[in-house]
Amino acid sequence: MPGFESFGDLERKEVEDVLDNGVLMRYGFDGMRNGHYKAKSLETEIQKTLQVNHAQLVTNGTAAVSVALALAGIGAGDEVIMPCFTFVASFEAIMMLGAIPVLVDIDDTLTLNPEAVKAAITSKTKAIMPVHMCGSMANLDALKQIADDHNLKLVEDACQAIGGTYKGKSLGTYGDLGCFSFDFVKTITCGEGGAVVTNNPEYAKHADLFTDHGHDHIGSDRGAETHSYLGYNFRISELNAAVGLAQVRRLKDFIAIQKKNYTILREALSAIPEVTFRTVPEGGEESYAFLSFFLPNLETTRKTSAAFKEKGVDVCFHYYDNNWHYIRKWDHLKDIKTLYPVSKEVKDGLAYLKDKTFEKSDHFIGRNISCLIKLSWTEEETKQRAKLMVEAIKESL
Ligand SMILES: *Cc1c(COP(=O)(O)O)cnc(C)c1O
Repeated sequence: MPGFESFGDLERKEVEDVLDNGVLMRYGFDGMRNGHYKAKSLETEIQKTLQVNHAQLVTNGTAAVSVALALAGIGAGDEVIMPCFTFVASFEAIMMLGAIPVLVDIDDTLTLNPEAVKAAITSKTKAIMPVHMCGSMANLDALKQIADDHNLKLVEDACQAIGGTYKGKSLGTYGDLGCFSFDFVKTITCGEGGAVVTNNPEYAKHADLFTDHGHDHIGSDRGAETHSYLGYNFRISELNAAVGLAQVRRLKDFIAIQKKNYTILREALSAIPEVTFRTVPEGGEESYAFLSFFLPNLETTRKTSAAFKEKGVDVCFHYYDNNWHYIRKWDHLKDIKTLYPVSKEVKDGLAYLKDKTFEKSDHFIGRNISCLIKLSWTEEETKQRAKLMVEAIKESL
């Protein structure tokens, strides 16, 4: 997955353009920049690559989720339905707005289970937020139907899935708004960075203002700009955007390499009858950032995970036992441990988390291992890895 693995002259050239003129900020200073607008150019390139009308760069993926939800009008006391398997950032981004994350079960897609979503809807629900974990998606048609039936927004956390598609659309462009991360370990990187994408011109207009203190961006005199409402600073720097500009132009090549390496591993594992793979909904195509598979039970999965480590098969994750990505280990969130006070409404809204069990999700996450697909592996290395993985699984069954 990580773009940092394939990093060099193209990235350096874009960064040098910025260093040569010294304008590290995306707005203003027109006379000094020799025509270089890296953030603007990266937005245009993202629009072209994902076939979406608007892209707004922000500081990181977590900010992208907060901004997207804010644009969708989500705020104090509103409920957002999200999966219990994701990165903690999805939860944090909802909390930042004073809204309430409502966690529900996943299914064998490793993302939102539409039935669980339906069951969680209340009069406070404002949005459904699928998270396209490990490069693949939920049944988005089913989620869209539920969203339409209940007048809810569909906001995609596509931070781990750039390059994947669903029914011909790029992931992140199917719902009302989509979010991407370009942090250091994502498919393409800016060092730190993120983007919100949308086809809705109203959201696009407000994205531009909200992420820059509400500045109206009219005219060339920044000091003369007015503010229609409260905004914040989620601006990306030109240096980060320059790196991303080189990277996004290589996205297609990155995905092709991932697909090749993924296919070698998948074909090898397919020979083991006890191994099954995550379900990709009809019409979906993964980004091949990870190979995600299931073993028969928790015990064989734990054994396999240990055997992988013993044999030096790295970058494979048994999320059931991992601190960052699954509700089971999120005690700090279940206990609502915050640095500053949160409202009574949010506290009450989160009380369900203390006792809620996620057996249906345990059934899938307990048996799942997801292996990151690297760009830097040679064909020979990938085949050797496949061999070691097969050995480790066979020993553990
Ligand atoms: C990485 C990630 C984020 C947050 O992105 P940052 O750029 O690291 O803030 C949000 N959601 C998911 C699913 C992620 O994997």
